[in-house]
Amino acid sequence: MASFRQRLLLSELRQQGIRDPAVLDAMNAVPRERFIDPSLSGQAYSNTALPIGHGQSISQPFVVAFMTVALQVTKDHKVLEIGTGSGYQAAVLARLCKMLCTIERIAELGRLAEQTFKDLKISNIKTRIGDGAEGWPEEAPFDRIIVTAASKLAPPVLAEQLKPDGVMVLPLGKSPDQQHIYRLTKTDDTIFTEKLLAVRFVPLISGNNHTN
Ligand code: SAH
Repeated sequence: MASFRQRLLLSELRQQGIRDPAVLDAMNAVPRERFIDPSLSGQAYSNTALPIGHGQSISQPFVVAFMTVALQVTKDHKVLEIGTGSGYQAAVLARLCKMLCTIERIAELGRLAEQTFKDLKISNIKTRIGDGAEGWPEEAPFDRIIVTAASKLAPPVLAEQLKPDGVMVLPLGKSPDQQHIYRLTKTDDTIFTEKLLAVRFVPLISGNNHTN
């Protein structure tokens, strides 16, 4: 049963234009308080980003909902997430797709998220510690890719690991105050690009200097 505060947050998301019932159901079903430090649990259902340690943050619920809708996920999709962080976005996506693969560069965060998935008995998430800008070649290709850390350009390897007609949603920007969520759709001979929403994400930190 969702708490009163959780239901309040859901109605706020609806007012902000999130209409997709499957996405709202998934956000209703995932207990956000389990993905943050207990000292912050009073703020678990406020519509804000919160610190998760190591200078990183769990995204604002509106941004999680917005990116999830933009990704157009279905139950038969294999999805790759770059930037596991708390694991919250992964847990929401896992309710909507078949298999969710997620990569985090900070081992302590990745392991904590993995434990949270176990505690919540979520069985369709695979975790990996490493540089997400390299993708996950052994699991590729993916129907969908979501990146939850910002870079200047989309990591080229990720587009290669996307299936034809695949969709990638990610924050891109030349500087931290110029970031937008983009949706890239792979077609036969090109990548169709849409600029969707102004945002502010932590940076994608990669050994691959094509992105930063
Ligand atoms: N999706 C997360 C948001 C995490 S913030 C959530 O729901 O909580 C972004 C995360 O991306 C941080 O944890 C950061 O460590 C991670 N990150 C940054 N660069 C990365 C890279 N190259 N590969 C994998 N993870 C990266």
